[in-house]
Amino acid sequence: MRPSSLNPLFKPVGSLPGLGPRLAPLVERLSGPHVVDLLWHRPSGVIDRRFTPMVADAPGGQVATLTVMIEAHTPPDSPRRPTRVRCSDETGFITLVFFHGREDWLRRTLPVGEVRVVSGLVDRFNGEAQIVHPDHIVTLDQRDTIAVVEPVYPLTAGISAKQIGKWVHAALAQAPDLPEWQDPAWKSRQNWPGWRDALTALHNPQADSTAARRRLAYDELLANQLALAMMRRHMRQAKGRVFHGDGRLRAKVLNALPFSLTGAQTRSLAEIDADMASPLRMLRLLQGDVGSGKTVVALLAMLTAVESGAQAALMAPTEILARQHHSTIEPLAASAGVRVALLTGRDKGKARDAVLSRVVNGEVDILLGTHALFQADVVFRDLGLAVIDEQHRFGVHQRLELTNKGRAVDVLAMTATPIPRTLLLTAYGDMDSSRLDEKPPGRKPVDTRVLPLTRLDEVVGAVRRAVQGGARAFWVCPLVEESETSDLAAAEQRHQDLSELFGNRAGLIHGRMKGPARDAVMAAFGAGELDLLVATTVIEVGVDVPQATVMVIEHAERFGLAQLHQLRGRIGRGERASTCLLLYGSPLSETAKARLEVMRASEDGFLIAEEDLRLRGGGEMLGTRQSGLPGFKLADPAEDGDLLAVAKDDAKLILERDPELAGERGGNLRTLLYLFERDQAVLTLRSG
Ligand code: ADP
Ligand code: MG
Repeated sequence: MRPSSLNPLFKPVGSLPGLGPRLAPLVERLSGPHVVDLLWHRPSGVIDRRFTPMVADAPGGQVATLTVMIEAHTPPDSPRRPTRVRCSDETGFITLVFFHGREDWLRRTLPVGEVRVVSGLVDRFNGEAQIVHPDHIVTLDQRDTIAVVEPVYPLTAGISAKQIGKWVHAALAQAPDLPEWQDPAWKSRQNWPGWRDALTALHNPQADSTAARRRLAYDELLANQLALAMMRRHMRQAKGRVFHGDGRLRAKVLNALPFSLTGAQTRSLAEIDADMASPLRMLRLLQGDVGSGKTVVALLAMLTAVESGAQAALMAPTEILARQHHSTIEPLAASAGVRVALLTGRDKGKARDAVLSRVVNGEVDILLGTHALFQADVVFRDLGLAVIDEQHRFGVHQRLELTNKGRAVDVLAMTATPIPRTLLLTAYGDMDSSRLDEKPPGRKPVDTRVLPLTRLDEVVGAVRRAVQGGARAFWVCPLVEESETSDLAAAEQRHQDLSELFGNRAGLIHGRMKGPARDAVMAAFGAGELDLLVATTVIEVGVDVPQATVMVIEHAERFGLAQLHQLRGRIGRGERASTCLLLYGSPLSETAKARLEVMRASEDGFLIAEEDLRLRGGGEMLGTRQSGLPGFKLADPAEDGDLLAVAKDDAKLILERDPELAGERGGNLRTLLYLFERDQAVLTLRSG
């Protein structure tokens, strides 16, 4: 149970004074649902208001805090024009400018003939100084409250800087004094403040707050590494089963395959075999670019379980993928007499009951499916291996739920998101990993080009010519910020535009479509009844249409590199040469330009992931959310890489000395785990 000292921090943000039901959802989206999330809402910079020049000496383009006399208000002569308030000191005049200012409020706040201290960005226009919407206006005796260094917070529409600052401070006031969980010697060597002082310094950046930030970053990294080490230990302690396949089923399937395994596939399979044959439980991540051939590896691993008399399950994140796996795996398995069934959310009633009874009676050797596999009434006779495809789409608890359906179930997780080595440790420190870093032979490189969106007409023309020449094309529509609805609107609009040229040979697919409708469109595209498929990012995962050789991605700069790479992986799967056109909106920042250049120059997913991390910094890696990599709130894997290594060793040492976190520091470390919401890890402790 979470220690009660943390309770105030896990109240909803809406419980903070001054944060009502209207704004609470905005804050939730900005920082997170709990008070503690506001504590982690790191300032992105500071504004120094200590500069207090005379009016004549205040340069344009700089923030200044000025003491001025109010001389006159000039109300606007039309509603679109601003109210202007003329002020002065002995050295000159400055005008304060307010758009849509409320007249009575302005007169009260800036009474003519009185002195006020104002702070804001000074503008010089035709030699005249002005401040548009000063950030602060106070009386002389309050002057000290504003002539300070002020944190600047990442904002969202609808919330002002002042408001967010106020709420962060309200959250700070709720922060209890917590017992120290850091090793005292290490802490004092680093000159780090205590937890609460560090938080206070983070949000009141008067002085250099580096030490404070680093301490908090280390807290987060330690919580992360400790939790992973605990999960791993838990998995290891759980006795595994020894699966020694005799190879008879495998031999038949290998025989039926129209190709031989790549070196990387053979190597990964050997690693998996060794895990499955050992008496410890397997928890292995198979990383491999799109098209690197993970499915076959998974199938061969599942056959080992089946050869030993157990069952295997493969879970995919979407219906499309589950069906695709079924159509690949079923015929291969059949060639060895292995019985395969499919279970998805779409199976209902009698048909579903029939599958379930075959599974529980052991008449199904391999069960493929979606989240539907978690359901309580799915019972195996003897589940021995669980394969989880696109593992980042599932939560840790879902992984556990599936493995709880058997006795000491081995787990093989797969991902097509190449993960940089530094992040692998933070994201999957509890897993062993195998890499498929070699593509099956015969794949043609994809010709990738980067073009401005202004050349859309040319692009449409080129796609049309390609289609006339027999190609099939994906057209991916832009990701519109935060809103699925506008994503959809953009895709629908583009589909409509393109339908004028392509008629009923242009299809549309998006996440809001019902499963059967979506599958029907995919099938039509696969069968060549459609030439062009306009899509939102639902096509990202899986989807195998070898005839598709063209991909257009609009506003490519809005996608994460990992995502672009995944999307591009949909083409270049067949015999014919493929082309990917990345269209960008202008203006393009230097970083965005560099990122698209990486895409143009390389098809190596591991390299692209490393470059993405380098160019964006870890915290910003787009796709941290989609990819399920931990989005760190305080630590930055790029900046704090040194601390990560220390945290890893620290965690190891902690568990060697006090495996149940039962000692005094152990207890404090439990608090740390709860603070960073690693409750799952604490549950692995005997007295959790
Ligand atoms: P992933 O799931 O890793 O994206 P798949 O398992 O779907 O990739 O494999 C992509 C394609 O490559 C499939 O059509 C598969 O049959 C083929 N393939 C897999 N392994 C090999 C191999 N060793 N040689 C040739 N083709 C292969
Ligand atoms: Mg796959």
